[in-house]
Amino acid sequence: MMISPTGLLVVISGPGGVGKGTVCAELLKDGEMALSVSVTTRRPRPEEKEGEHYYFRSREEFNRLRAEGRLLESAEVAGNLYGTPRAEAEKLLAAGKTVVLEIDVQGGRQIKDILPCLTIFLMPPSPAELERRFRYRGADSEQVMAARMALAAQEMEAAVDYDFVVVNDELDRAVEEVRQIIRAAREKEDGI
Ligand code: 5GP
Repeated sequence: MMISPTGLLVVISGPGGVGKGTVCAELLKDGEMALSVSVTTRRPRPEEKEGEHYYFRSREEFNRLRAEGRLLESAEVAGNLYGTPRAEAEKLLAAGKTVVLEIDVQGGRQIKDILPCLTIFLMPPSPAELERRFRYRGADSEQVMAARMALAAQEMEAAVDYDFVVVNDELDRAVEEVRQIIRAAREKEDGI
């Protein structure tokens, strides 16, 4: 068996509300995997911690990081900037880790263009179920709701460009499917 000197880069995308965060949190329970912490200009939500959920930065600082080439990819989503810090991902990959990037479809496209990676798109079981999940999350106005659904529809069009599409119908099942896809990719890389 050949041991690959570098890890596997995994891009996980999907429309807002599909449960990417929950799926990724489950994946991390497997010690082989590491989640890359992104930089964002968005304000922290009450439960979010600096360096754990995101690195929260000003637009000015974000633009400086980007100009210095310290982000692997970056994108604007719903008026906020997001990016993947290069150094952290590279260090983890060099250590042989499976590095998970939970990023939007614009970022996914950029990563695919520059690095070998495995790409997985999480799909809701149906648009109606996605809408139900959005409503469950918070009391958005009908206008915000319509905007979220429109963005989700646009994001889902990118699914065809991903290596695998996994339907997040039931958390445990979907997580297991993602795990198996990643396991198979690693074994292929390691030449097992
Ligand atoms: P949220 O603000 O809800 O945490 O994330 C909004 C969107 O930004 C989600 O689709 C999330 O996957 C995406 N996102 C989070 N971090 C990054 C990143 O580093 N790069 C890109 N391109 N998208 C990101």
